[in-house]
Amino acid sequence: MLTLKGQGVSKGLAIGKVFYFDRTPVEIVRREVEDPTAEFARFEAAKASAIDELAALYERAVNTIGEKDAEIFSVHQMMLEDLDYCESIQGMIEGESVNAEFAVDATAELFAGMFASLDDPVMKARATDVRDISRRVIGILTGKRDTLIITEPSIVAADDLTPSETVTLDRSLLLGIVTSGGSANSHTAILSRTMGIPALISVQGLDETVHGRQAIIDSATGALYVEPDEETQTAFHARLEEFERQQILLHGLVGQDNVTLDGRRIDVFANIGSPADVPLVHKNDAGGVGLFRSEFLYLESTDYPTEESQYQAYKTVLEQMQGKKVVIRTLDIGADKQIGYFNLPKEENPALGFRAIRICLSRPEVFKTQLRALLRASVHGKLAVMFPMITSKSEVDEIKSIVAEVKDELKARGQAYSEDVEFGIMIETPAAAVISDVLAKEVDFFSVGTNDLTQYTLAADRQNANLDRFIDTHHEAVLRLIELAAKNIHAQGKWIGICGELGADTSLTRRFLEMGIDELSVSPSKVLEVRNMVRHIDLSKN
Ligand code: PEP
Ligand code: MG
Repeated sequence: MLTLKGQGVSKGLAIGKVFYFDRTPVEIVRREVEDPTAEFARFEAAKASAIDELAALYERAVNTIGEKDAEIFSVHQMMLEDLDYCESIQGMIEGESVNAEFAVDATAELFAGMFASLDDPVMKARATDVRDISRRVIGILTGKRDTLIITEPSIVAADDLTPSETVTLDRSLLLGIVTSGGSANSHTAILSRTMGIPALISVQGLDETVHGRQAIIDSATGALYVEPDEETQTAFHARLEEFERQQILLHGLVGQDNVTLDGRRIDVFANIGSPADVPLVHKNDAGGVGLFRSEFLYLESTDYPTEESQYQAYKTVLEQMQGKKVVIRTLDIGADKQIGYFNLPKEENPALGFRAIRICLSRPEVFKTQLRALLRASVHGKLAVMFPMITSKSEVDEIKSIVAEVKDELKARGQAYSEDVEFGIMIETPAAAVISDVLAKEVDFFSVGTNDLTQYTLAADRQNANLDRFIDTHHEAVLRLIELAAKNIHAQGKWIGICGELGADTSLTRRFLEMGIDELSVSPSKVLEVRNMVRHIDLSKN
């Protein structure tokens, strides 16, 4: 048994096979093999796995992007079965005693060259496909993949994962996440908490040798046990039982109010990243959605999501929330959330750069598409729209005039929207907190993004794992900014919530209640823990 130590960033326990996502580029060298028959069998086994992967991808794609677009995965399966392709590989392995990777790569280039020389554009395009299927087989042969796809229940291990890699993982197969890099408030950590998937970061000594091996994640102790011995497995099952017992106890709070012993109520809402998270919101009895990070719809796509596809996603969430409030945050990309098709410029300091509302105000056509989709969806439930990374009143003025234009466009199109939509902004910058008296006159509500507010107040990059010891998440400067904002916002009769990760920190719940915070929005799995804490607090006593 190998024990690796890291830091748990999403609670829970998991057991399963590790899939290590190795992104070092594959270098294919020609090697002579002693047993060409065994080598060909190695190719045949990799081919069979590739076909299984493609079948799983086809099934998944049919359900998400439809049969027509999913077809490519069945075409790839057929290409892998192609007799000429397989015979060429067999001929090289058995005739020249070369290794399978080399034979596949050489055959791919041979066939791609042939396809590329044809006049028919459909056949020409097959050059890319033959390279693609061969890359998949080589990936299986070498264990080095260039895209992260799991096709069986897996603990995903990697150096680090980008938000788009995490969001496109098939969550029905994802048992846990372990990375050697990462930071507690990166979006990958946040996503794993939202999905309720156990996760460890900063795992020392984690590398590709764990691939394919059985492992246990225990996020409470930050341990990853690779090939756990019997004693560890027994202890794991006992801890799992205890964890489940606690979950059952917490679930006894379903249907109860979030009220202190002395009668102060607070809303406890949930954060989501996709319509697929709504069942978790219901399961944990959240009073609404306090943050729907809409950018994950963009991160899952390979091109700008259309107004129609966004409208469907927002409508689904609003309908499924059955009249409970849903706060949807407009697109917040940039910094760690990079999207290829946006072609964002490379920046020295991306967290201080072109991100969130700055991109939306600079690309009004992208912003307006999202606003149209949101307003159209507003007739299906109780919608609130929130804008990220605000620093000044002039940004809010600009947003308001764009919203007014979009409403006029919808009226001209004869498309309905609700006049009851609330508009709010996030307090994520010290600037917004300091001028919250001014901003409070402009919008209906506020939500504090403590992840960014902390990084900007303490001048400490939330992505940088080396800074963890310098980031005091309870820093008085951050708490005082929240307190100031709450005072200013309440003076204007508006409401203020917290949707950053600090909202789920139950050691601060009392302080937030004392500040008069109206709503805490947390990962679905934290809702009942926060409720439990609220119900044990007596604000009339010290
Ligand atoms: C925050 O900054 O606290 C927040 C909620 O937004 P995000 O984590 O998506 O940047
Ligand atoms: Mg933020």
